[in-house]
Amino acid sequence: MRITDRGLYCEAGDFYIDPWQPVDRAVITHAHGDHARWGSRHYLASRESRLVLRTRLGEDASIESLEYGEAALLNGVRVSLHPAGHILGSAQIRVELGGEVWVASGDYKTDSDPTCSPFEIVRCHTFVTESTFGLPIYRWRPQHDVFAEIREWWSANAEAGRASIIYAYALGKAQRVLAGLCDAAIGPIYTHGAVERLTRDYREAGIALPLTQHASEMPRGHDFGGSLVIAPPSAAGSTWLRRFGAASPAFASGWMQIRGARRRRGVDRGFVLSDHVDWPALLATIEATGAEHVWVTHGFREPVVRWLLERGIDALSVASHWEGDDEIESTVAGEEVVA
Ligand SMILES: [Zn+2]
Ligand SMILES: [Zn+2]
Repeated sequence: MRITDRGLYCEAGDFYIDPWQPVDRAVITHAHGDHARWGSRHYLASRESRLVLRTRLGEDASIESLEYGEAALLNGVRVSLHPAGHILGSAQIRVELGGEVWVASGDYKTDSDPTCSPFEIVRCHTFVTESTFGLPIYRWRPQHDVFAEIREWWSANAEAGRASIIYAYALGKAQRVLAGLCDAAIGPIYTHGAVERLTRDYREAGIALPLTQHASEMPRGHDFGGSLVIAPPSAAGSTWLRRFGAASPAFASGWMQIRGARRRRGVDRGFVLSDHVDWPALLATIEATGAEHVWVTHGFREPVVRWLLERGIDALSVASHWEGDDEIESTVAGEEVVA
């Protein structure tokens, strides 16, 4: 495998993994915009990702899918997909030829998440890992505590007659927040159109989520006081927010762990909730793969490479265009206007 100007390429199999330029055959780790881009001729992805990938790539895209663990031969190269625990359908791509095994992780987390299949360790010779939160300062608190904080915040707002608005990425984070509040008596819950559409895909894929209503479908003058609203970060500061009247905004993201992040986003609360591994989980996962060679991609590549080299693991920092699904909201065509 090698990095070309189109992306991570397997020459023997003649396919790319999450290419950033259109190619003939793309194998896709997950449906976030920086990993699943438009314009390739054929896509191969996990069956679990089918619906969200279709929503992201559009009706015309040619998408084939594999169950997790099922293998396909691409020009004699054995390719299989294994759960990455990041969002619905996210997969690590295992590539095997002549007894040599590579695994490209895409984005991943090892924490439990009811909205997708749990991460699996896949043994390999070379592991291509992300490093989004690859710094020792990133250590996630138990998510149970974070969801308890969200419930308390909502409850205080509801008592004061305010709406609670959580900004969360429309694909993945929004549904994880919803699932985390499944057992709580929170509601009614309203959504932005971008969130609602993908939430429907999740339900159709069999993920249990609390009842939501598309906020834009409510009649004019509707009272949103005491409700919970889930919106993509792109909705912040937009006129779409006016309908909610007095409201408390919050942001759910791993980046909320950084001092000042909450203030910079202009929100009342920052809930540290990430769909990526934190520093300890990243290193533990890399070690568990048994890989002799590690390619470190998007994120804090240098600190991770240094840590691995010091432990005698051959590590390489690899530049890619997989950046920012947790920083920049990737959008479906038109979703900004179709609030
Ligand atoms: Zn992602
Ligand atoms: Zn990524």
